[in-house]
Amino acid sequence: DAPISRSGAAFQRARAVIPGGSMRPSSWFPPHPPYAARGEGCWVTDLEGRRLLDCSNNFFSLIHGHAFPPVVKAIQEAAALGTAFGLPTPQENGLAEAIIARAPHLEQIRFCNSGTEAVMFAIKGARAITGRSAIAKFEGAYHGAYDHMEIGYESAPGAWDGPDGDPASTPYARGTPAAVAADTVILPYGDPARCADILRRKGTRLAGIVLDPLASRIGMMPASPELLAVVQEACARDGILLIFDEVIAFRMHHAGAHTLFGVTPDLVALGKIIGGGLPAGAVAGPAARMAIYDHTGGRPGVALGGTFSANPLTMAAGMATLAAYDTAAVARLSSLGDDFRQATNAAFRAAGLKAQLAGMGALFRLHLTDAPIRDYRSVATIPAGKGAIAAVHAALLARGALLTPNASGALSTPMTAAETDLLTGWLVEVVREVTA
Ligand code: PMP
Repeated sequence: DAPISRSGAAFQRARAVIPGGSMRPSSWFPPHPPYAARGEGCWVTDLEGRRLLDCSNNFFSLIHGHAFPPVVKAIQEAAALGTAFGLPTPQENGLAEAIIARAPHLEQIRFCNSGTEAVMFAIKGARAITGRSAIAKFEGAYHGAYDHMEIGYESAPGAWDGPDGDPASTPYARGTPAAVAADTVILPYGDPARCADILRRKGTRLAGIVLDPLASRIGMMPASPELLAVVQEACARDGILLIFDEVIAFRMHHAGAHTLFGVTPDLVALGKIIGGGLPAGAVAGPAARMAIYDHTGGRPGVALGGTFSANPLTMAAGMATLAAYDTAAVARLSSLGDDFRQATNAAFRAAGLKAQLAGMGALFRLHLTDAPIRDYRSVATIPAGKGAIAAVHAALLARGALLTPNASGALSTPMTAAETDLLTGWLVEVVREVTA
């Protein structure tokens, strides 16, 4: 027998005490992922001592890569003063002010611990403000693990439309209450006219529409101006709140993705990079909307809290991160990403490969087709299939690049054209190998 790797040994131990042997379905792939030992900048070292170019960045949460010195220092200093208190801290004011100062449309903010919580609290806020219970989201979009957001997230071809002819409200988790599915309206991302029709019929039931303008699971195509117009029109007509999920997308613009897309949402869910690599989430928006969370006048419309919400370590790491992600850093990273996707797509075409990188700015996702991608359904029916994407992922890992298992990635500020050129070369080689 070949000697077992250190990661293999770690996985064998894990299987006894952890169902499935690891903690996160989205980051698992067979036979098991390499275990991380440490990271520095855009490189991760695994237990075998192999260095990997990290394009996953813990699922896009590390804008400056690993162990960014100002963040390490900020966490160390904060930790030495105590990690969490049943009292407010000046650090929470600091990160709140730092985010509000960047985004003119966002006037107030409340922190929580994850993107899942951020979306959940935004939805609860929308329900409390409107007095309605139903929520709309786009087919295939991932917004975390709150019940309603797991509806219409993964469904099979043939079962895409429900009995009423609209996209089906298919639950993901077994045992999801029927009432949750009944209260979740699924919208087609690539078809603004059909979307408008659904919203005309169902809009007055809706408390909110949740929209990620660059949803990774849908395929990472930017929301079209037509779609944004349809959504905003329905919100204005029927009194629906627009909830932007910027858990990933906030990074796309200094003042948030809503600014980049020219939209003024009622509530914005934040997470990932605002915590500087530590667990973080937030709901932000205009003060008139955020008042629903104000608890000082007695019982609030929605109680937004949590034992570790706004803990000073996350706040300090977030402040150090955002201070170094200024307008110049955002512009540099976005243009590095635009150049990378253009160069890679040109290389795919030159090599006659049926492949494309979707995305925008520093975010990208590989699709093994040269046909246009419009929505979740067009991704799910790419002939090469998920098996080919898994093979690309594995072959990239063998060369030394870590993408997410669905072959999406993000650039981080320590990267330069040296790293993106390396990645373009590997992508062309690997796609040729897999699609041959
Ligand atoms: N919304 C989006 C768009 C996300 O990508 C994610 C996580 N990948 C979430 C929400 C949930 O965030 P978290 O994993 O921090 O709960």
